[in-house]
Amino acid sequence: MKAVVFKATREVAVEDVPDARVERDEDVVVRVTSSALCGTDLHMYDGRTGASPGMVLGHEGLGIVESAGPAVHRVQRGDRVVLPAHIFCGVCFNCARGDSAACLRVHPGHVGGAYAMPGMGPFRGSQAELVRVPFADANCVVLPGTPGDEYEDDFVLIADAWVTGWHATELAGVRAADTVAVFGAGAVGLLAAYSAQLRGASEVYSVDLIDERLDKAAELGFVPVDVRQGDPVEQIRELRRARTGARLPGEEEMGGVMAGIDAVGFQARSRSDLGKEDPRQVIDDLARLINPTGRLGIAGVFTATDAAPAPEGGHADGSLHVPWAALFNKGVTVGFGRTHDRRYTTHLRDLIISGRARPGQIVTHHESLENAPGIYDRFDRRVDGIVKAVFRH
Ligand SMILES: [Zn+2]
Ligand SMILES: [Zn+2]
Repeated sequence: MKAVVFKATREVAVEDVPDARVERDEDVVVRVTSSALCGTDLHMYDGRTGASPGMVLGHEGLGIVESAGPAVHRVQRGDRVVLPAHIFCGVCFNCARGDSAACLRVHPGHVGGAYAMPGMGPFRGSQAELVRVPFADANCVVLPGTPGDEYEDDFVLIADAWVTGWHATELAGVRAADTVAVFGAGAVGLLAAYSAQLRGASEVYSVDLIDERLDKAAELGFVPVDVRQGDPVEQIRELRRARTGARLPGEEEMGGVMAGIDAVGFQARSRSDLGKEDPRQVIDDLARLINPTGRLGIAGVFTATDAAPAPEGGHADGSLHVPWAALFNKGVTVGFGRTHDRRYTTHLRDLIISGRARPGQIVTHHESLENAPGIYDRFDRRVDGIVKAVFRH
């Protein structure tokens, strides 16, 4: 089968590799119809997280079940399925509680597993013609329709980008009438903002520094905030001052937002030099922006090992200097971590099917798998206006 293979830092190739096959009785093999390119793929591509040469990339796959092992009962050959990025068994101590990202069986000796991520198990990725799905009854979300129909882009985003964005709004406790600021308007950030909107937020601010992302944020009905124009915390406070005419006692103190989301992670840009990384920047800003009694959801990735930590504020072991005291004194609730796909995937599928949500609006590029090396390069360099690219296989 053809697959996108990691070769070396900033080098991928489309190569022939051994076909994915049913290896255990609970497996299925899926013929991929769409797979999406994610910022997390760039953590490997950029040589930050120690990917091994030969690794088949991709953790956002959609396709048709091609073959199934004898212990698979819930899905069958011919089913259209989306494959959530974080693989889980469905029945262990954590899975039984819905905490599927912390599955204890999928990668023995570790907490959680995923396709095509260093440290997350030996699972090959879905930027390939075929992909093996372990514990298939748990890890296939069955969908209606046929490949290439109007939902193809919506459904592929259930694999990761939208569930992660939705999870971020859960972590930040977003509820009706909330004011929400999302730092990062990549796919996850935009879909976190979109999720906040679906949950009834009254104001949604979308912070970034790339024109096409800010344009997309505005197109989706969020207030774009351009970091290149100055301190985003002051910009949002000013926008809110202008918007809220009536004053309740003490409302000036609450001129930030009630819910803040970090959809950037460890590769945050330093505001004193936007060409440099500072992994503390977004958390620092959110600690200033979130109101007393507010909530902070951190969905951006923070890696446990970083081969090239930022000179300012970065550490190879992922340690960070963060403003705990500010968060403590404001009584901010902080939530962290990978999305528990099991809790959300069927709900999000149903929002799409019912016509309530069209997350596929954020997809800007469709590519053939053959073009992977070029699109990785352009996405990595943030050129060509790529917000979200989907490979049509
Ligand atoms: Zn992803
Ligand atoms: Zn489990």
